[in-house]
Amino acid sequence: MAPSPTSSLWPCQAHPPTAAADRVVLVRGQASTVYDNRGRAYLDAPASLWFCNVGHGRRELAEAAAAQMTTLETFNNFGRYATAPTLELADRLAPLLPMPEAKVFFTSGGGDGIDTAAKLAQWYWAAVGRPAKRTIVTRELAYHGLHGWGTSITGIEANTEAVGRPISSTIRVPTHDLDFLEALLAERSDEIAAFFTEPVIGTGGVVPPQPGYLAAARELCRRHDVLWVSDEVVTGFGRTGTMFASAGYGIEPDMMVVAKGITSGYVPLGAVAVGPRVAEPFWSSDPSVVFRHGLTYSGHATACAVALAHLDLLEREDLVARVAALEPVLDDALEPLRRHPLVREVRGPVGLMAGVELTDPAVGAWIERQALEAGVLTRVLGGRTLQVSPPFVIEEEQLRRIAGTWLELLDRAPG
Ligand code: PLP
Repeated sequence: MAPSPTSSLWPCQAHPPTAAADRVVLVRGQASTVYDNRGRAYLDAPASLWFCNVGHGRRELAEAAAAQMTTLETFNNFGRYATAPTLELADRLAPLLPMPEAKVFFTSGGGDGIDTAAKLAQWYWAAVGRPAKRTIVTRELAYHGLHGWGTSITGIEANTEAVGRPISSTIRVPTHDLDFLEALLAERSDEIAAFFTEPVIGTGGVVPPQPGYLAAARELCRRHDVLWVSDEVVTGFGRTGTMFASAGYGIEPDMMVVAKGITSGYVPLGAVAVGPRVAEPFWSSDPSVVFRHGLTYSGHATACAVALAHLDLLEREDLVARVAALEPVLDDALEPLRRHPLVREVRGPVGLMAGVELTDPAVGAWIERQALEAGVLTRVLGGRTLQVSPPFVIEEEQLRRIAGTWLELLDRAPG
């Protein structure tokens, strides 16, 4: 019999009655641990959805929000209007970004950042007299959120079920195949606006780039006059052990999309960082070239105030360096899993980002449930890859507990 819903909430990526029958209601968090409404503690192995980088329960971020809200909660960012924290955050981010003289267009999250970047790529080519360049190329396994563009360019086919690709001018290329990409760009660059990629693919199963792939693909895009857009919604702000993964891999993007780690999820915020080439026609002395795009909450003052306090915190606690220092610890903790017969492959770690791919999706679902019982909140990507992306403040012993819990469970997984 179908479980009956007990709430009006329509949850993401779920059959609502099934989710309602098995709901976990989280009420509190501290550092790398969250607590449910029955008082049970869970280690947050995925940092919720890759976002809680500075850990849960940071009072100073709440205080930054309260201070801004009681002064001016926000105002819009259209035309000549702006608020002080919005301006300050843009100027504070610009020198951190892996492109010279970056301009910053704020969004509410990652998916609308992807929409913004895709539209801006097309707008740019129209502005420089090449309006036929409209197609967006992405990699198989790519995830770029589920707004209109994100759904259209995803490399995860399940997300297009029933709706197809709402925007048709998109092409997918095999994840690691440079020859395929080169042939495509050689043949069709007249119609291709941009290549979007996550430096390390996240939701598609944690797939780091093969050595040399990103630099070579970047060079192909440059040679064929195709814009490069790094999707750093997951990797941005330290997840891979450098402030931005693009810089770590020696890539200078034309645009970069960030969200999640810009505030560690304390309030919703995202941004598109725009390099000099794409910015040029819109920032030139000709006032008739305008990017006709805007979001009510673009540059929301409270969100920007929190982002500023969050940057203070990242810097003061040197958390990006901590991620780099923890990478070998995580690698060591994951080592026994690499040899387990039910593990197909361990990918990464890159910084504090890894994936443990199992041989059998049925085991993935079982591990998720059992690990929760054992106090390790576990997320399974694509039905079979255990996601490792904990808060940057995680302790070494906690990293070992996550890997150890999974190992113990795999040893007694039903055959
Ligand atoms: N891009 C990447 C790489 C993501 O992982 C996500 C979300 O997980 C998005 C874009 C979409 O972000 P949002 O869920 O904030 O719309």
